[in-house]
Amino acid sequence: MKNNIPPFPDYYEALELPFGATTEAIRASFRRIAKICHPDVPTTGSESKFLHLYNAYRILSSTKRKSYDESFKKYRAVEFIRDEINKSSPLVLPPSRISFSTGILELAKRGLMRKGFRTKDRRKITGINHDIIITVKEREMFRRIIATIPLTVRIVCQVCMGGDLHCPACDGAGSYKSSRNLRVEFPPTTLQDRRIFEFDLSKFRPDSYTHFKKKSLRVMIHISKKISLAV
Ligand SMILES: [Zn+2]
Repeated sequence: MKNNIPPFPDYYEALELPFGATTEAIRASFRRIAKICHPDVPTTGSESKFLHLYNAYRILSSTKRKSYDESFKKYRAVEFIRDEINKSSPLVLPPSRISFSTGILELAKRGLMRKGFRTKDRRKITGINHDIIITVKEREMFRRIIATIPLTVRIVCQVCMGGDLHCPACDGAGSYKSSRNLRVEFPPTTLQDRRIFEFDLSKFRPDSYTHFKKKSLRVMIHISKKISLAV
């Protein structure tokens, strides 16, 4: 549905101001943000951000503001209706919002993947007490959120049921590694930044042949407050 609406540049958001801000506030905001994102500024400088900011400033401080404001209100009205419709349906997060808290490679570098090292001990050393981080944008916080988390599983060989050392299907291993998606749903209003949810994975087994590698999964919520200056 979102794709039916042509992109509309939010100049107020670019200037970190509410609709209807005064010309003075617009000028002050432009100066303040330009000091951060001007392309000449090391690390925080960005040509695209600055151009968008400059465009915002140029339009909102000129006679073009009147017609921009009219379009803005129309666009907002459409967006408001769209949000009302969306509220009733859950938001399915894209895979990019789900990340494993510590990569295996990173742990290996620190010598924490040695045999016999338990997850519990690794946690004590790294101070990381969760397996997965799910990023939710601030404006999505009060929606019903669905996340699909890929997890490693062991599946008992269906041919020999794990009982034949000469089984051709599993080469005698009795089971094989695979992955299954864990679908978790967060009701609205339960989400808070840094809140950790623990899931008992035995409740999510799709059948009695499939075993999750872990007993439980700890998911940390990250509420992203980043304001994007991009169009
Ligand atoms: Zn087998």
